Amino acid sequence: MKMDIAIEGQNNNKRIRLIMHLRNMGIRETKVMSALERVPRDFFVPEAMKDQAWDDIALPIGHGQTISQPFVVSIMTQALELSDRDKVLEIGTGCGYQAAVLCKLARRVYTIERHKSLLEAAERRFEELRIRNITALVGDGMLGWPTIGGIDQAPFDKIIVTAAAREKPPKALLDQLKIGGIMIIPVGENGEQILRCYKKESDDTFAIKDIIPVRFVPLLPDIASYNEGNDEAA
Ligand code: SAH
Repeated sequence: MKMDIAIEGQNNNKRIRLIMHLRNMGIRETKVMSALERVPRDFFVPEAMKDQAWDDIALPIGHGQTISQPFVVSIMTQALELSDRDKVLEIGTGCGYQAAVLCKLARRVYTIERHKSLLEAAERRFEELRIRNITALVGDGMLGWPTIGGIDQAPFDKIIVTAAAREKPPKALLDQLKIGGIMIIPVGENGEQILRCYKKESDDTFAIKDIIPVRFVPLLPDIASYNEGNDEAA
């Protein structure tokens, strides 16, 4: 019991240190910082990484995939200019951390992951944290959110892609963005990616802005095969 309290205290200190670090790095939106403070990142990373969960670094989550660095999560979240009325689409659920941050600031989050086992683990975490406003799906997010039982969720107020497109955002995602809506997506080849903001001005015009250089895993087509990426897993 004493031990648990000691670990809890250490985690709290690390959590506060991370939030102060993000502020120093220029994150200004208090709503975004408060969401990062409230979502327990240690709950989303593998057991062996829990010690590093509150450091500002990306960490492996299995299948060769990574949970993004908190600074990048906060930059992307801030750039979405979320309101509590927004319906948000996320491509690349991974461990579910970014979705858990988004769901604190938006009305509803729809998230797609191509690795079934990652998605199932993320859904278990949402359940344990009693998160009720995330809908998660296994699929190829490059095709956008599918029509299910005759029901369309598109268009979305905001779209966030957490894997890198090679040259430009998939057309289905640009189509599923509301006019006036914002999409944040890393674009480019390995090592030379840039985080880009697309603001939809009409059905086929976008205002495009570069944010910062980043490093993401690639956006890949189709649902992953059962053991894809297993040999690279942490
Ligand atoms: N947002 C995640 C980051 C995960 S890394 C988090 O907070 O943990 C990016 C994820 O995108 C990986 O899990 C990868 O499997 C997934 N991905 C890549 N291409 C995809 C696609 N076409 N559709 C859905 N998910 C995809």
